[in-house]
Amino acid sequence: MAFQDEITHMNRDGLESLQLGRMKEQIVYCYEHIPFYRRSFDEAGFNPYTVNSLDDIRKAPFTTKQDMRDAYPYDLLAVPLDQVKEIHMSSGTTGVATVSAYTEHDLHVWGDCFGRGISYAGGGKGDVCHVCYGYGLFTGGLGAHYGGLATGATVIPMSAGNTKRQIRVLQNMGSSIICCTPSYAMHIADTAIEMGLDPHEAFPKLRAGINGAEAFSDRFRKNLEDKLGIQVFDVYGLTEVMGPGVAIECAEQTGLHIAEDHFYCEILDPVTHEPVPDGEWGELVITTLDKEASPVVRYRTRDITRILPGTCACGRTHRRIDRLHGRTDDMMIIRGVNVFPSQIENICGRFAEIADWYQIELTRSAGLDVATMKVEINPDVPIDEIRMIENLQKRIQAALKDELAINIRIQIVEPHTIPRSEGKAVRIVDHRE
Ligand SMILES: [Zn+2]
Repeated sequence: MAFQDEITHMNRDGLESLQLGRMKEQIVYCYEHIPFYRRSFDEAGFNPYTVNSLDDIRKAPFTTKQDMRDAYPYDLLAVPLDQVKEIHMSSGTTGVATVSAYTEHDLHVWGDCFGRGISYAGGGKGDVCHVCYGYGLFTGGLGAHYGGLATGATVIPMSAGNTKRQIRVLQNMGSSIICCTPSYAMHIADTAIEMGLDPHEAFPKLRAGINGAEAFSDRFRKNLEDKLGIQVFDVYGLTEVMGPGVAIECAEQTGLHIAEDHFYCEILDPVTHEPVPDGEWGELVITTLDKEASPVVRYRTRDITRILPGTCACGRTHRRIDRLHGRTDDMMIIRGVNVFPSQIENICGRFAEIADWYQIELTRSAGLDVATMKVEINPDVPIDEIRMIENLQKRIQAALKDELAINIRIQIVEPHTIPRSEGKAVRIVDHRE
């Protein structure tokens, strides 16, 4: 039996009764241990002692990011501080940071959840996990670290940065699984190739990447897989609920299995807040089922996804969310039209002449939004005639206009013009405010 198979293959009835039992306890626990929930449940007229079915969660009020900011630093803590082993917080770039704390139990759960991903990738004891997500308040590094340890793998805690050293270590240490953002994995691959290495020969044991924390297109994934000779597994998590491991892809690459024994997920219409049918896109709302330090009830993630109907060919029973369409925070409003960078990326992916590196700059001119997208030429498809470049720019602009109803000025630039990031790629630079 692979790692935690008995949980990931549970029959639905067993799983749902496990969920309900945990949900009942978690809701009462929140009410009795966190003054915020006592207040918000009472105000909403929600009696936490009357949850009798999973659908009853809909009677509970939401928790928003603002609620979490208002509670900074410790107002949402359900245990005394001396029981907390670790604290993570968001970067707070758009305001006050949000905090999530972990007891010993919570850290175990986190390790188990990320560990499932390592197991989905066929990994475990005997594998060398090269973790080059950033270590620190960002949950990527330590989440992957605990996941590796949980499965019995050997972990190399590289953290992000110093790309040439990453490459030397990948070459020398027999690393088989690489954990980092997809854009950093691509940067490592490109840097290795520039150094005259063939990653397939230089990293002979590397066979899987657990690469999440940012949206990426199918084409980007394919390129990354080809360059490094690996299979890429998408992973989802968020500071406010749990780091990476809330949901992870299996080898079928048809959506991310939610760790349903620990998280109850709803997909709601972002405007009406009513549940949408399986298969339809909406906002992901998460209730933790057994968190001790920082439980959340109906946390509105602002992430847009959908439940994929049906069962997965891998045989695991936990429901799947689709790969993220984007975060509502990432959504751009260009002259009144809502658009996600991932939608633009998917259209651009059809043009072989351009590479996957791009950045969108938003400015305002005479009261109107102006969007300019710089995108790198694909060095493997050299075109140097200015006329051909102009023609390509026009064709991409026309495709975006046609399918997304937005006007974006396309500017084809030389390879390596867009700044590379060691963490999440910077896709949008908004100068409008
Ligand atoms: Zn599966």
